[in-house]
Amino acid sequence: MWVGGNIHAAELAGSSVALSIAEDILRLHLERSPGTGALDLPATVAERLREVVFFVVPRISPDGAECVLRVGRPVRSVPRDNRVERGQPRWIPGDVDGDGQAHAMRVRDPGGELVESSEFPGLLVERTIDDPGPFFKLYPEGHIEHFDGRRIPSPYFLGDNPVDLNRNFPWTWAPPHEQSGAGAYAASEPETRGVVEFATAHPEIFAWLDLHTFGGVSIRPLGYAPDTKMDQEDLAVYRQLEAWLSEYTGYPMVSGYDEFLYEPDKPLRGDLSDYAYHQRGAIAYVVELWDLFRRLSMSRPSKFVQYYDRVSRADLVKLAWWDRDQNDGRSFLPWRPFDHPQLGPVEVGGIDPRVGIWNPPLHELDELCVAQSRVFLRVAALAPRLVISEVRRQILPGGVTRVEVEVKNDGYLGSYGLSSARKLDFNEPVYAIAAAEGCELVDPGAVHQTLGHLDGWGRGLHSGANLPAYPATRGTTHAGWAIYLVRGTGALDVRIGSCRAGFTTARIAV
Ligand SMILES: [Zn+2]
Repeated sequence: MWVGGNIHAAELAGSSVALSIAEDILRLHLERSPGTGALDLPATVAERLREVVFFVVPRISPDGAECVLRVGRPVRSVPRDNRVERGQPRWIPGDVDGDGQAHAMRVRDPGGELVESSEFPGLLVERTIDDPGPFFKLYPEGHIEHFDGRRIPSPYFLGDNPVDLNRNFPWTWAPPHEQSGAGAYAASEPETRGVVEFATAHPEIFAWLDLHTFGGVSIRPLGYAPDTKMDQEDLAVYRQLEAWLSEYTGYPMVSGYDEFLYEPDKPLRGDLSDYAYHQRGAIAYVVELWDLFRRLSMSRPSKFVQYYDRVSRADLVKLAWWDRDQNDGRSFLPWRPFDHPQLGPVEVGGIDPRVGIWNPPLHELDELCVAQSRVFLRVAALAPRLVISEVRRQILPGGVTRVEVEVKNDGYLGSYGLSSARKLDFNEPVYAIAAAEGCELVDPGAVHQTLGHLDGWGRGLHSGANLPAYPATRGTTHAGWAIYLVRGTGALDVRIGSCRAGFTTARIAV
């Protein structure tokens, strides 16, 4: 199981959830008592989880997170710019008034796009033709590189930190003129490369949680096509995830393509969860932590992503009052006059989205972590599990023993993980390797036997299995047999499994 968070610098709550999941897993191993009251997991789930390996990377972009935490300036992923082409005028966000923090700057301008709300002091809202003014332009606190003394460049969120790590992954990677934030080439960044190299070396990773903020939603594949184009067995498994997610967190789970394209008909390129699903064959899903829109009682638009565009002036006023009443006023700050070395008189302060907008209020973090962990630990319990279920010996004439070793997958998922992952080259079938000690195999070629993939028992949700119109299940497609003819007496060491499903071993006396 892979748990990763904070690939986007400001999305700090992902680190908290990842660490919380790591703590829960440790607790599972430390508290061996039957059941796990603290985690609210059935004993069978807890037992299964003790056999699952977890890789937890709470902060994929530590440099970015550090920059956001210390200075408060916006950074998409990493606070660096290795481009050679840096001749254009651009904003460099940073502290200008000496308080150590980089927030926002507003400048009075009759052509300004924003106006101050009459319902909350200092709150800037979108101007309408009815508003009398004054009007404002809004910039990041910072300075302009290559400033000609007149023309102010438009701020751009990737202006001085051009790479979005979540567009830098190899699956469907496209260059920056087609996908903003892509980076110079796939996995050009050390953080991305580290993830890709690790994932490649660990084909056993069958599920992949990618923690982001904000929205209060989970985004699943496909990202580039509707559900009709998706492997329908995969989709049924995702429906099970969706059921858990809505039960424990209240978040919906939506298709990236159907509800989360930032631009119509333009699928994201090079993002991590697409890589994890298509290239690593994992049950990959993104969680956008912190259901801000529901907090504002906004009604759900037809596509979830439209929430981000549809925050109205009234919603913003509601948010500002909520911030003051329940978030210690962390997000909406007073403006202070300041004489900017390039722009002259401006006002500095205004907005600090770190806690309350980008991330949930601190006092809600605990509850959010518990809920997400509850979902994820159930996903982890879907792991395939190979067990040697029976060994049969039959004495044959001539001092030969026939040994039949039966292996079964008693896990939810097949030995291949998701159905669509069968096609991946690394996803080898289950095989058996034997070593004879003191005895010998009649056929030396029997040392290696390919048993094939073994199904699990899980079929996801709404696959039609509950209606006993044609009552039947699969046959023993979850079982395989390795058969040996052994001459003499001694022991047979058998190892059965695959790089994805893991291995089970037995020492069989002959
Ligand atoms: Zn994000």
